[in-house]
Parts: sequence; C-alpha cells; structure tokens
Amino acid sequence: MLTFFGRGSAFSKMNNNAFFTDGSDLVLIDCAMSSFHRIVEEGLDKICGGKEIKRIIVIVTHTHSDHISGIAMLIHYAFYILHIPVVVAAPSEEVRADLRYCCERLDGCAAQAYSIVLAEDPEIKWVKNVILTEHSPELAGRCFGYELMVNGTHIVYTGDTRTLAPYEPYITADTVLYSEISTYRSEVHLYLYDNLDRLIALTKQGTKVFLMHLDDEAQIQRAILYTDIRLAPLL
Ligand SMILES: [Zn+2]
Ligand SMILES: [Zn+2]
Repeated sequence: MLTFFGRGSAFSKMNNNAFFTDGSDLVLIDCAMSSFHRIVEEGLDKICGGKEIKRIIVIVTHTHSDHISGIAMLIHYAFYILHIPVVVAAPSEEVRADLRYCCERLDGCAAQAYSIVLAEDPEIKWVKNVILTEHSPELAGRCFGYELMVNGTHIVYTGDTRTLAPYEPYITADTVLYSEISTYRSEVHLYLYDNLDRLIALTKQGTKVFLMHLDDEAQIQRAILYTDIRLAPLL
C-alpha cells in the first residue's frame, strides 16, 4: 500500500505524492517540491519508520511541475547531505530525455549523484506495466500511470489522467486503485461526477479505491461519504 506526503492537486500547498519503502529502498511516485521539503523537515528516519534507507527511487508519471519540481533538489540533498544515490525512473525515452535536461542542464545535478533509467528497467522491480494515458494536450504522449506490485499488493496508479480507460484492463478484484479525481470539470482531469458510479462499481467487485490529486477535498469527501471509496492515506 502507498502513503502520501500530500494528496492535493497542482495549486495545493501539498501536492499529490505517494511513497513506499521496500527493504532499504525509499520509492517515491513523482517528487513535488512540497514533498522534498517534507522529507527535509521530517527526516528519512521518521518517514521510513526507522528503516535504514540506502537508495531513493523516483518513479515519474509526467513532467508537470507539481510532479517533478522536487526531483533535482532531492538529488542534491541526497548527494550532499544524506550520501545516498537517487535513481529516477522515466516512463518513456522521451520523458527520460526531458528529465535528463532538467537535472543535468537546468539544475546541474552532479553526474555521480543520480541515474535516470526507464521504469521498465528490471532495476525498477515494482513496475509491472507503464500505462500511457491522456492528460494535457501540451504533454500528449508523455503522460503515464503504472501497474505496480508493491510488497505483494497489486496496484494501479493513474497519475494525472482525463480518462480511466487505459487502466481498466489492469484493474481486478484484488487491485488497489489510486485514482486522481477533480470536482472541477476540465479536459485534463477525471471529473468526479462522471466517474463516481464507475468507481463505486469497482469497490463492489472488491477493488479498493483511493482518490488522490484532489482539488476540493471537502466536496470529494462528502460525495464518497456513503461509499467504500476512500481518500489516499496521508503520512
Ligand atoms: Zn498534477
Ligand atoms: Zn499533470
């Protein structure tokens, strides 16, 4: 199961950001600047329940700022302060090149501080499938979600998406689905009232459904009050 530093949408104080630990690895799904600050403030020890962390992995969904703004700072911090490496996992070659440009050219991260691999690399053992989705037209072809296996739990993580369709083939009764949701109707996010019935149906088949990337948490909480849908669990 995943824990979240924050579950807010792009303009929230705490942006949406999931993480888990596996052995001595801390694995983040995206890394917002707000999550980077949380890591510095709370310390890895507290965040990881006292586990000794020897490596941080960041699995990236797409390159909007609310998802990648903290990556380069995390690389600097892990290198100079924590003395552990960061592995950034990109969903495609194109996104990998974009991330390399950000870390290398724009942010000047030390080459020995990090590596950028593809999420399909066997090193990123939690990723079972990279799922291409539709989100913002400016990032067409460069927005993804994931099918993951984390500590024995089958997870589908939508990332930012305007449709559940690419994820449907991966969702079973045993799946834990983390789905973005929005109360504001737009062309780039999942509109709550168009998707609520489908999400409720999934819970009835046994799928656990957690909502994330919330624009109006109070309204979403009210809408799911008498359902088995839950909000993504915060740290
Ligand atoms: Zn976002
Ligand atoms: Zn986005």
